[in-house]
Amino acid sequence: MSTEFEPACRRMEWLDPFYKSVWEKAFADAIPISGTFELTPRCNFNCRMCYVHLKPDQIPKYGRELTAKEWIRIAEEAKEAGTTWLCVTGGEPLMHPEFETIWKELCSMGFFITLQTNASLIKGKTADLLAKYPPRGAKITLYGSSDEVYEKVCRVKHGFTDADAGIRALCEMKIPVQLISTVIRQNEDDIKRMAFYAYIHRLPWMATGGIKASCRGAESEARQVRVENKLEEQKREEIKRRLEKVPVDINRKPCTYCKDYRLGYWVVWNGDMRFCSFLNEPNIPVRDMPFQKAWEELIRYEEALEWPEECRTCEAQKVCFKCAGTLAAECGSPHRVTEEYCGRVRKIYDEMKGE
Ligand code: SF4
Ligand code: SF4
Repeated sequence: MSTEFEPACRRMEWLDPFYKSVWEKAFADAIPISGTFELTPRCNFNCRMCYVHLKPDQIPKYGRELTAKEWIRIAEEAKEAGTTWLCVTGGEPLMHPEFETIWKELCSMGFFITLQTNASLIKGKTADLLAKYPPRGAKITLYGSSDEVYEKVCRVKHGFTDADAGIRALCEMKIPVQLISTVIRQNEDDIKRMAFYAYIHRLPWMATGGIKASCRGAESEARQVRVENKLEEQKREEIKRRLEKVPVDINRKPCTYCKDYRLGYWVVWNGDMRFCSFLNEPNIPVRDMPFQKAWEELIRYEEALEWPEECRTCEAQKVCFKCAGTLAAECGSPHRVTEEYCGRVRKIYDEMKGE
């Protein structure tokens, strides 16, 4: 049990003995304690590496956005099933046409809500709404420390000016803000300035270069813009660690590497329930069925998911650390591998064996 639960311990709540026992209980009984509502694929930014964003005319190809009434029905049933922590995200969630109605209802239901946003729309009526119905915390994606860098990454004018104003507004409302920066080639040289921005505002900040390609229709340039040399360095470190200390156990199922295994879920913008935002399956239509039934179906999917056959006989299996979401993003599906992906892993592995 302790090994299997390991992914969830990355959550902050793990540090607190009370939350730890709540999460352990949820895991043991498969209670959907943590959910994410991805309200919309719309966004006022157009980030090069985004795996969700769809333009309005692209949306019908992949489904339709749920109405406020549909989100509220799902939320009520999710609460009944045990959901306590709720992340509201997008795209840019504030761009859902009925955001105000959804937000008021979710807040009134008593969830511990984290709002994930680019912060650029937090002004006027929206700022008033958040002041009246504050989330428990806000995760803000910070893409640079100037409008010039935002223009290169997010392809918008005044992106930093708007995001900065939104962040300041949230801080004035005393809403705990956490900054997260995705690092790509276009903002790589700006990392220190982003860190400094977080420092002077006394905000927690983390940066990630782990950009995943989209298998959900977004026109992502992830493969072209990720900082490959840094990622390869990380891959080498990871393989070294696996070679020397902790080999990957191929008998451990893909979902056991997921922090949401047996206790969390995503409802993507078109009303499909999944366990990971990077996947394009399973398509469990919680929009058309009772939440509890969808959740049970998700657990069955998680338990049944296996690694692709190639991994079982691969000589690099002990050093190849991945999850179902990685395979989906890199190889297009959690059920298959590609020469391109495996070739990269095996090349590093062969070089390191030699060392
Ligand atoms: S990464 Fe975030 S801010 Fe950028 S386009 Fe996607 S949803 Fe919008
Ligand atoms: S290198 Fe490819 S086949 Fe081998 S374990 Fe990794 S993903 Fe599977």
